Amino acid sequence: MQLEFLGAAETVSGSCFLLRFGIYQVLVDCGMFHGPRELKERNYGSFPFNPLEIDAVILTHAHIDHSGLLPKLVKHGFSGPIYATDATADLCTIMLPDSAYIQEAEVERKNRRLSRQGKPLLEPIYTKADADKTLAQFRPMVYDERVEILPGLAIRMRDAGHILGAALVEVWVTEEGGTVKLVFSGDMGNLDQPIVQDPTFLQDADYVIVESTYGTRLHQDRENRRERLAEVVRETMARGGNLLIPAFALGRTQDLLHELRKLLDVGEIPPVKVYVDSPLATSATEIFRKHQAFFDFETRTMLEEGRSPFEFAGLHYTQSVEDSKRLNDIRGGAIIISASGMCDAGRIKHHLRHNLWRPEAAVLLIGYQAEGTLGRQLQDGAKEVRIHGEQVRVRAKIHTITGFSAHGDREALMGWLGEFKDVKRVFVVHGEKSVAREFAQDITDKLGLRTIVPRLDEVFELSPNTVERLGVAGFSEAQIDPAFAGVIKVWEGQEQIFSGTYGFASRRFAVPNTSNTRFNMASGSRIFTAVAAALLADEGKFTFNTPALCCLRDGLPPWARDLTIAELFSDGEGLEQRLELVGRIVEAHAEEPFAAFAAARIFTPVGMASTGYYLLNQLPEGTAVGYLSSGSEWVENILAVPLQGGPSGGAYTTADDLHRFWWALLGGDLVSEAVLPEVLRPFASRTRNGLTSYTVWGTGPGSSMVTSVIPALEQEVTILSNGEAGTGDIYQTLMDFLEKR
Ligand SMILES: [Zn+2]
Ligand SMILES: [Zn+2]
Repeated sequence: MQLEFLGAAETVSGSCFLLRFGIYQVLVDCGMFHGPRELKERNYGSFPFNPLEIDAVILTHAHIDHSGLLPKLVKHGFSGPIYATDATADLCTIMLPDSAYIQEAEVERKNRRLSRQGKPLLEPIYTKADADKTLAQFRPMVYDERVEILPGLAIRMRDAGHILGAALVEVWVTEEGGTVKLVFSGDMGNLDQPIVQDPTFLQDADYVIVESTYGTRLHQDRENRRERLAEVVRETMARGGNLLIPAFALGRTQDLLHELRKLLDVGEIPPVKVYVDSPLATSATEIFRKHQAFFDFETRTMLEEGRSPFEFAGLHYTQSVEDSKRLNDIRGGAIIISASGMCDAGRIKHHLRHNLWRPEAAVLLIGYQAEGTLGRQLQDGAKEVRIHGEQVRVRAKIHTITGFSAHGDREALMGWLGEFKDVKRVFVVHGEKSVAREFAQDITDKLGLRTIVPRLDEVFELSPNTVERLGVAGFSEAQIDPAFAGVIKVWEGQEQIFSGTYGFASRRFAVPNTSNTRFNMASGSRIFTAVAAALLADEGKFTFNTPALCCLRDGLPPWARDLTIAELFSDGEGLEQRLELVGRIVEAHAEEPFAAFAAARIFTPVGMASTGYYLLNQLPEGTAVGYLSSGSEWVENILAVPLQGGPSGGAYTTADDLHRFWWALLGGDLVSEAVLPEVLRPFASRTRNGLTSYTVWGTGPGSSMVTSVIPALEQEVTILSNGEAGTGDIYQTLMDFLEKR
């Protein structure tokens, strides 16, 4: 089975994983991307799969970064079932239409401007109608019940303790080779979070896909967040000001009400008016009331005692815009909870405009404030901010309490992971790149588990016992010339990030190319010629500035008499003859045939067991036959030049051997630091980013190849082909793709 990481990989948002097994394709989550523009653009482009071919969706919870692109999926043809808990399905009935409304409103605003400018108009990602259609495809599940949703695919949702209805999902995939069990953490809550139960601890999984939002942090004020909240409320009320609390409509708002109710009940805060001014929060709270069975013991007890966190004296929910505007007249003594949580949209902005300038007022930030948001400016102590085109002085007190997070911190996540037995790999997702990497390292150090931080679009082949990185889905097979035959490998450091094999090593015998197939390097073998010469230079036989004449008195062609050894290597006319000459010079000094010298001094020391110089009619097994394309016919290159395996051609190698070769050469294991620059000079160029790269091209009858390294990035691309089509284009596509990463 294959697992593709199409979102929440090296980033927090856009959660989306694609499982392929047998004839089926199933998504886990289909979330919207937030944050930087490159990510948000993914919301608009087409999916990296065909929505018509998706058989089912498993949804972990209702937050938009997990559910937000479901209506787009349906708009583009997905008609299968969406499995989610009952509460998640209910919450989606408000979240998805609300998200559609935001998409439509945003596009409408942009289109007004575009039509004034006479430009083509935009289309919203999806509309309310798409969202409504999506809701009809939900199949509500209960926690803890195992259900077979497709032949060979069973799932079970367990409480994730994050928000109402949030699930971590156990997935069993049965194929011919056996059953693989995956556990997707979804978003994981903290222990002792208000209202919801604690996350479910599990022990069995082959592979765990774990979130890492706060994988490197400890929520320090979790213990005393209620006392801090009480303090802020008391202080603000004593000053006679309003307290504004920007909060996510779903989850955070309800948690806050829960805490306020408890403080009121024990008299730690004075009776106070609390306004929930967000239609979405109000609707979400309604749904919370409907699903009391999922509440934790404490909250259920509160309800039984008639102390509902969602209705108490002084608590008001506003719906209409008029109700909301009326709050502007309240000068003090009220708590106003409103969205959005980062103050970058929604009704909270109006309340900030009316209160920020008042020294008796206060703002309490309880959620993550992303860079560039109004909330972050306030948190960073801005003296003046711009709201709806108006400069507003900040005189109100700004407080921050981080302990309200609905995500498990490092300790909580570690504790949860620590319960698993015999996990083969932990994939760390849903965290900023640096956080995910640090957390992954921590998991390995503390729990001894092997981890992978998948890249966006990366694909893995999973079996009960093995994991294989297949590369990056963004570089799809569709971009490869169908006539291409050969092997493509891409490495970053020692990690192979892409590997693909195409076409036949022998068409006549229907032998496919494999990742170990040996290919002819044609003129690319001059890199070995250069190293061979450098080895002799290291022995003091000559320098690269020595005139060729000194090395080979007999039979030196007249055109070569004035050249230095270095000039024999330089690119340009007559390279083949010049390299032939270097071969003869090497043979004269080494006193053995060139091929034997290269084998003993280069291939054997580096461990290039599949590399050597062979005669065309004596190729070892596992070597690709070169094909010349002649119209629509394929012609085997049996008797074409070069028959003689000499230094200008005739070297055969594998992609893995070239990988070993590059790092031995660049690491100084083959030739000395003094001659290395001479060896590399003919192959050096600069990338668009100004980094040095070394690239070896090889073309000959029935073969083409390129191998290229960027030492600064430890990036390496090797394409070996037993044909003449596609190599250059594929190389360009790959380099463009790598550059964008
Ligand atoms: Zn979430
Ligand atoms: Zn999330």
